[in-house]
Amino acid sequence: MTQDIDGAVHLHSGKVRDLYSWGDHLLMVASDRISAFDFILKPGIPDKGEILTRMSLWWFDQLGDLVPNHIVSTDVPAAVAGRAVVCERLAMFPVECVARGYLAGSGLVDYDATGAVCGIALPPGLVDGSRLPAPIFTPATKAELGEHDENVDFDHVVATVGAETAEALRDLTLAVYGRAEEIARERGIILADTKFEFGARASGEIVLADEVLTPDSSRFWPADQYEPGHAQPSFDKQFVRNWLMSPESGWDRTSDTPPPNLPPHIVEQTRARYIEAFELLTGQAF
Ligand code: ATP
Ligand code: MG
Repeated sequence: MTQDIDGAVHLHSGKVRDLYSWGDHLLMVASDRISAFDFILKPGIPDKGEILTRMSLWWFDQLGDLVPNHIVSTDVPAAVAGRAVVCERLAMFPVECVARGYLAGSGLVDYDATGAVCGIALPPGLVDGSRLPAPIFTPATKAELGEHDENVDFDHVVATVGAETAEALRDLTLAVYGRAEEIARERGIILADTKFEFGARASGEIVLADEVLTPDSSRFWPADQYEPGHAQPSFDKQFVRNWLMSPESGWDRTSDTPPPNLPPHIVEQTRARYIEAFELLTGQAF
């Protein structure tokens, strides 16, 4: 799955990205791998790694006045050109910092069961896709590979990182989400929710890390198809999910067999969707 890169020491591979030690820094490489229903699908989506890397870099630029980020340079080995960044090695906070402006996914599951998400009570009558009265901070604990992140309440974050840091993470998460949601909305994309990871420099300064505001870390919905009351079409993976669930794929999601290979037309439509999202957001041609 990973590749040998001269001068880099492999540290970790997630479903999609590979992390290497790179001198005093880290090299974070985005692959073309795509996951759905918790499976890594085959084949990958050509250029996905580059599209998401460029999107993340673009967002870091838009957010520079709100929070420092971990990017050191985009000068990376040729083998991973365009889809890797050199970043600061931070002490990561073990909290997935999620902001939600709309109800979906695990937020919806929690709400349906308890009327609240991560201990935050919400008004009655909300449905799948509802816009929340105001964005909320819904932290989760980081799960091991293959496990699901678990939603936790704010007190759990306080117990993990201390009150001062917990408040800072919450405030930064909501500030960055608020800015990003507004930018995306102007461009026809609803940023329903997103996950950030923060780390600390040796000085203690809190820095925005990982990838940000990509379809892999967020829910992007096409604004012109928004209709609360059912699952919203996802900007990037809808073709993949629809095809996997269709008779054409022949796959039974309830079986424990892995999904079949994606046919070329699904790969191509999905690639086009990632490019469309990138171009809509950034106004740049890919
Ligand atoms: P997955 O997202 O597939 O469930 P994962 O989160 O374990 O798996 P990735 O997201 O692919 O793995 O890997 C990125 C890893 O790098 C994460 O563990 C993240 O916390 C860490 N990371 C991101 N930025 C930094 C940084 N600046 N310093 C140290 N670690 C970082
Ligand atoms: Mg991750």
